[in-house]
Amino acid sequence: MRTPIIAGNWKMNMQLATAAELVTALKNDLAPLAASNQVEIVLCPPFVYLPRVAELVQGTRIGVGAQNMYFESKGAFTGEIAPAMVADFAQYVIIGHSERRQYFHETDESVNKKIRAALAQNLKPIVCVGEALETYEMGETDIWVRGQIHGAFKDLTAAEARALIVAYEPIWAIGTGKAATGAGANAVIGISIRGALTDLYGEAVAQAVRVQYGGSVTAKNIDEFIVQPDIDGALVGGASLKADEFSAICRAGLKKFE
Ligand code: PEP
Repeated sequence: MRTPIIAGNWKMNMQLATAAELVTALKNDLAPLAASNQVEIVLCPPFVYLPRVAELVQGTRIGVGAQNMYFESKGAFTGEIAPAMVADFAQYVIIGHSERRQYFHETDESVNKKIRAALAQNLKPIVCVGEALETYEMGETDIWVRGQIHGAFKDLTAAEARALIVAYEPIWAIGTGKAATGAGANAVIGISIRGALTDLYGEAVAQAVRVQYGGSVTAKNIDEFIVQPDIDGALVGGASLKADEFSAICRAGLKKFE
């Protein structure tokens, strides 16, 4: 069975004091769940708060992730953060979030480079894919998402592929309050994402890779997604900024064992 994984993407929110408050509350709320190791929990704060969050979760099983990183290892890249810098504080890194693709011109090619650079530092990449509203309305989600998977996993070995976590995040569902349906997300993940992985690596790898759903997940709707056979957890934006809401979403991961 694939271990469910719930990750909170804080995006460009929080400040040092509010970040510490949130993590302290989550640590209390999630102590028994984190200790049980049944659900993997990851917090992805902005870069500058990684050291503080890493310090606060020390001794718990709550993981830490960055929201991005550069693929070069060092040098004259003003403003960028290298994979080894992320690895000093984090175990995970979100790669290719649609906001990075949309506002910062990331491409399947740069996503692939970042994945390889992350793996070289033993970081676990959370690789985001998902279609725009127009693509969805034209009925081209399958071909789009398959293309993104092929681009992201280009030249990765089967062993490397197994280490990745994919997040299926339809762009039209991110931050809009209009989540996909559980069945709809499950179909894209089961048919398009695991289908593309089967083409690349065969059935065993396709079934081993964990795939989250992301897009307006809340404590109210998480059950609809978590009970789906091909969905292994959630990447949560807005709802990860509230301790009670995010804790409830994490606890819903236990539904996988019912
Ligand atoms: C996200 O940022 O990856 C996301 C899914 O955001 P939200 O949950 O706010 O839709």
